[in-house]
Amino acid sequence: TMPFLSVHDLSVQFATEDGIVKAVDGLSFDVERGRTLGIVGESGSGKSVTNLAVLGLHNPRNTAITGEIVLNGHELTGAPQRTLEKLRGNTMAMIFQDSLSALSPYYTVGRQIAEPFRKHTGASRKAARERAVEMLRRVGIPQPELRVDDYPHQFSGGMRQRAVIALALVCDPQLLIADEPTTALDVTVQAQILDLLKQLQQETGTAIIFITHDLGVVARICDDVLVMYAGRCVERGTVRDILTTPRHPYAWGLLSSVPRRKAPVDAPLRPIPGTPPSLLKPPTGCPFHPRCEFREYVGDTRCQDERPMLTLDSGRGAACHLPAEQQKSIFAEQIRPL
Ligand code: SF4
Ligand code: MG
Repeated sequence: TMPFLSVHDLSVQFATEDGIVKAVDGLSFDVERGRTLGIVGESGSGKSVTNLAVLGLHNPRNTAITGEIVLNGHELTGAPQRTLEKLRGNTMAMIFQDSLSALSPYYTVGRQIAEPFRKHTGASRKAARERAVEMLRRVGIPQPELRVDDYPHQFSGGMRQRAVIALALVCDPQLLIADEPTTALDVTVQAQILDLLKQLQQETGTAIIFITHDLGVVARICDDVLVMYAGRCVERGTVRDILTTPRHPYAWGLLSSVPRRKAPVDAPLRPIPGTPPSLLKPPTGCPFHPRCEFREYVGDTRCQDERPMLTLDSGRGAACHLPAEQQKSIFAEQIRPL
């Protein structure tokens, strides 16, 4: 079957005062209906930029985009703003981290959920209000018929984030892009919201892109994972692949830097040494080479000189010069799995 969203060889560059920033460099991925793709990486890895490009929310004055973004058979790159606006309201929806900015303080929560539905379907005010109540109920707001007339400040943080999800889902989007939507919430509310998204996805078959730096979140909600570093995909696979047998040294670093609940209290964490590279002047060869502890296994200066390509075998692969067998054995022998 055709993937619902197919991104091919996407590059995004910004013009800044200091020069051209290569925020995304040759990225390809697919998202299937009813599945969740996690995009994982440190800040500045290009994960948010990628999704702003998919949504057409980049600033066209200073941003150059090349490659293909095909949504349900429609080419989005170069599509007019009006088309993208329409898609953003209907086919695609987004949830960002900061729920307060998604809701206006001046209108009731119910009205803010009802309006886009009315605009999209031409429903009457009464029907749209009923839809808002139903959406609030679906996202687990108690007594939604009473809360529908509340203003955002009358909701708790967790309830506001639920309301934002209700708003994002009111027009039954086929693609939902969630950018760190639970980062500001406490762990319990975060878990509830992730479970809720999963459940809504099972009901509607929505494809989800979930952007996060939190591997606990990935384990809870994602089916497939794409690991980004310096604007490139360095590894992809199923959630099980990435969490149990990651192949790229950067993914090892991410996994080993996660505090483990079951680990002994004195188990050392291995933060990844160094900092993400400047995308004004990305490193030559493998973008991870300045931080990689394993480049001596490759030998000579190959990691510095030659860019490793990502070749996928059944959707699985890592962009690293280490031979696959060696990736497996180093991980099994030297890095502790979660
Ligand atoms: Fe490390 Fe070389 Fe693999 Fe890059 S290509 S991750 S530097 S071993
Ligand atoms: Mg971000």
